[in-house]
Amino acid sequence: MLARPAHVDTGRHGSPAPNAPAGERGQLIVVANRLPITVSTKDGAPVVRRSVGGLATGLREPHERLGGTWVGWPGRVDRLSPPARDAVARRLEAEHLVPVTLSEREVRVFYEGIANGVLWPICHDRLDRLPLRVTGWDVYEEVNERFAEATTGCHRPGDRIWIHDYQLLRTPALVRRRLPHARIGFFLHVPFPNPEIFFALPTRRWLMEGMLGADVIGFHTRRYRGHFTAALRRLYGIEMEADGTIAWEGRRVHLGVFPMGVDAAGLAERGASRRVNGTVLDLRASRQRLLVGIDRLDYSKGIPRRLLALERLLIEHPEWRGRVRLVQVAVPSRGRVHAYRQVRREVDRLIGRINGELGTPSWTPVHYVYRSVPQPMLLALYRAADVMLVTPVRDGMNLVAKEFVASRTDEEGVLVLSELAGAADELTEALRVNPYDVDQMAEAMHQALTMEGRERRDRMRALRTVVRDNDVHRWTASFLEALEAAG
Ligand code: UDP
Repeated sequence: MLARPAHVDTGRHGSPAPNAPAGERGQLIVVANRLPITVSTKDGAPVVRRSVGGLATGLREPHERLGGTWVGWPGRVDRLSPPARDAVARRLEAEHLVPVTLSEREVRVFYEGIANGVLWPICHDRLDRLPLRVTGWDVYEEVNERFAEATTGCHRPGDRIWIHDYQLLRTPALVRRRLPHARIGFFLHVPFPNPEIFFALPTRRWLMEGMLGADVIGFHTRRYRGHFTAALRRLYGIEMEADGTIAWEGRRVHLGVFPMGVDAAGLAERGASRRVNGTVLDLRASRQRLLVGIDRLDYSKGIPRRLLALERLLIEHPEWRGRVRLVQVAVPSRGRVHAYRQVRREVDRLIGRINGELGTPSWTPVHYVYRSVPQPMLLALYRAADVMLVTPVRDGMNLVAKEFVASRTDEEGVLVLSELAGAADELTEALRVNPYDVDQMAEAMHQALTMEGRERRDRMRALRTVVRDNDVHRWTASFLEALEAAG
């Protein structure tokens, strides 16, 4: 794959239909910050793991099914010995993965500094998390250039390029500069914030112009697209037409809404395995009602207020003491960024307080798992949960909510869902809460725990229909159809 000869891009005309076999219509090139596997080093030897996170989880399957190339960062390969590095390179090549390596400085400035230290908080409405002075946009551009180069290197006529997310906002325009006629899609997995917030960035025009290099720009919800069009109007006086397109530099750019889904059928099937069944029985053995939270440990996920809500529940409704427990999985994330270390301390402190003040020698209110868990355990937790708590203070979509629903083939379990998660627009039969209102969340937990069986099943059936009908395959297909139709 890496050795493929460079080809001249002859334009898009006459491209075969989106559902034609891969060979006829060219390949799909996925471009994302992370490859679907992450390489790290243990005692000088490479350790290869599947990457965690909604994007990697959602796109791995279409990448494998549709064939094609994935351009992305493989993780820290710089500390590997030369033979180990060769072994990793062979594995990547076999899986059609093209690595863009980052130096230590680039990880610090591009990934931790700009992407996760500036763009992530801006997109999640957290101006208060911005550093006082922001530097490093030049490094952001350099890294985006390298992604653009790697993409160009594996592009052949008829290929489609699909660039992802806030780390690569400049890449569409940088690819367009190299391949003026290429078919380029861009999907933003995080919210596009209200312009009042986005405009805090001195680089606001430069970033938007980066995205506008694409033929199709996709958002999870109408609200995020609305924020983007409001920003376009204010910066350039451009209006979106009724057909969802805008005129930009002699091209038409389609602005689409594509709510991302999950592999609903696959999750249902894997969730029914013998191994998962055994773990579900173990989790339910205590006869306590089970609340479950599963998140990356990120300040956008609302874990501290969720814990406070549990504390309120146990104070306002003491009948639940000894009869309910929360299993909170928090996957370590971005631990070198200050704000993440802060939220970790906060979560540790609150869990210590709740368990210390309300627990007894025979009952622990919060079971805290601070690591990523293997998929069979994840599925068992979804299936064993009486109540699933998904209460981010802002989340582009939130796939955990949809995975929970997809796993509940028994049509049981209650989803408590933040109205500030993108998923709330579709999952209207969940118990929706304001994640800033601790008392309301406590009451929603009580309501979920006392909900009558019939209402539980009616709600879950309705949720399951939505999740099944709008799965990740549909998401991929509808984005690629829009990309095929664009231009
Ligand atoms: N996940 C995982 N291992 C874990 C916990 C979660 O692989 O230990 C996956 C989970 O199945 C889901 C993704 O991580 O697909 C989280 O996606 P989501 O959209 O909820 O949040 P993100 O982390 O992308 O902000």
